[in-house]
Amino acid sequence: MPSIFSRIIAGEIPCYKVAEDEKNFAFLDINPLAPGHTLVVPKTETDYIFDLSEEDYTSLQLFARRVAKAVEKACPCKRIATAVIGLEVPHAHIHLVPINSEGDLDFKRAKLQLPAEEMSAVAAKIASNIE
Ligand code: AMP
Repeated sequence: MPSIFSRIIAGEIPCYKVAEDEKNFAFLDINPLAPGHTLVVPKTETDYIFDLSEEDYTSLQLFARRVAKAVEKACPCKRIATAVIGLEVPHAHIHLVPINSEGDLDFKRAKLQLPAEEMSAVAAKIASNIE
């Protein structure tokens, strides 16, 4: 059965999309740690990020860098932090999280539930800053 992220990429499940290229896809995390928290995923479904081929891993990281620069422009912060966890969804993904302090990357913190209009606006702002 395809992962929830494969179903998002296929357009079967809605998402707040921010970018895609030939091999990768980026959309907002539905329960963000901060506004602009974005997930970057390879279109090819692989559970564990370090099982990706060298080519796909490199492509994912370069795409994540492109998206991170757009998130940084759209969501003022000190840094974009990256994290790879993958304990919940078995489809490799990189979290890009705008942070101002170390504690902002604490995945045990209560997640935000932002109104749909705000999620759409943030996604559109990030998308418009993709170079
Ligand atoms: P993890 O696999 O531990 O890295 O966590 C998976 C992340 O995916 C969590 O931060 C979830 O909030 C996020 N997530 C799960 N389902 C969706 C979805 N349908 N759309 C956007 N984000 C999701």
